[in-house]
Amino acid sequence: MQGRDVNMKIPHRLTMALAFALATVGLGAGQTPALGAASGDDFNDSHFHLTNYIQQGIDVRQFLQIMGSRVHRSTLFGIPLQQQWSHANSGDFAPTYYLQSDAPLYYYSFTDACIAMAYRSLSREEQARFDPMITGFDPADMYGVDHIRRVLTTFPGVFTGIGEFSIHKEFVSAKISGETASLTNPALDRILDFAGEVGLVVIIHNDIDMPFAKQDAEPVYLGQMKALLRRHPKTSIIWAHVGLGRIVHPVQVSAEAAQRTHTQFQIVEAMLTDPTLAHLNFDISWDEVAKYAVASPESIERVSAMLNRHPDRFLFGTDTVAPSGPAPYFAVFDIWAPVWQRLTPDASLKVRKGNYERIFDEGRRRVRAWEAANVK
Ligand SMILES: [Zn+2]
Repeated sequence: MQGRDVNMKIPHRLTMALAFALATVGLGAGQTPALGAASGDDFNDSHFHLTNYIQQGIDVRQFLQIMGSRVHRSTLFGIPLQQQWSHANSGDFAPTYYLQSDAPLYYYSFTDACIAMAYRSLSREEQARFDPMITGFDPADMYGVDHIRRVLTTFPGVFTGIGEFSIHKEFVSAKISGETASLTNPALDRILDFAGEVGLVVIIHNDIDMPFAKQDAEPVYLGQMKALLRRHPKTSIIWAHVGLGRIVHPVQVSAEAAQRTHTQFQIVEAMLTDPTLAHLNFDISWDEVAKYAVASPESIERVSAMLNRHPDRFLFGTDTVAPSGPAPYFAVFDIWAPVWQRLTPDASLKVRKGNYERIFDEGRRRVRAWEAANVK
């Protein structure tokens, strides 16, 4: 989740098309171009916030206009946390972001009703382009799972999954009223068990490490995260942002420590080849993640190679929050241009669109079946 527009200088779309045309020269017969200017259909968005930290945002029809013909499908969720406006803290200043006040955040469950009603206001054809997600539950509450069940029974035929919800998130977790969320809390296990039973796709934000972590140290939340994932092998789980944050950087290792500690790439590679984590996928959403990926020629090569090696396990998403128009919305996609150019046509298509369709179509199918059997 982010709270501001992308301010990075972005290449014009024409540049992308041109670069792609150059990159695909020499494609063999039977290979299809990864980015066809003719298709006008660039990606499905696996990570999109319609509203912000004070539950304000854009109308779903405005979002449809932004999507236009470049984006065929998108997830649809708000943000489950509401920044309190404490007069004692900020007086007449009304904070709209969690960094603008010392007052706490609290779970705003009504977000799910807002998302459901926005979805229901659309035509059948428009609805088919969205996968609404349930977010308004407290993952530290043993009753959290009951909220999810209640949303499904109140709004059958709407939701595909749960999330993005956060367990460890820099600056945010410590500000939330009530018990601090934890990867070892049985309340979270109840939620992931239920998601597995229903078929709900799960998008979880969990920083892999603490902010300003020491180089060469094992990422603090990695072990707990892997254990959590392994406790729920039947649940389709997407780890948002590959575990990174604005100041939770990719795990770095010095030459001296390379024998005993793993880099972010090695950690992710090991998880992707671990048969006990076959139900795990990663989203590469958020402009902060895109910036890490394109930070240097080496990072571009490494990220591209990883996506080409594991084309079925990554999903593109923007992680934009109520974007004001097409420019900030598509900027995140365009930052990735150097990586898109290095992907095989197959990997490019899967990361931009195919994996979304496979994972969220399966979620839709299973949730509708559960509703048919369980909602009277
Ligand atoms: Zn996030």
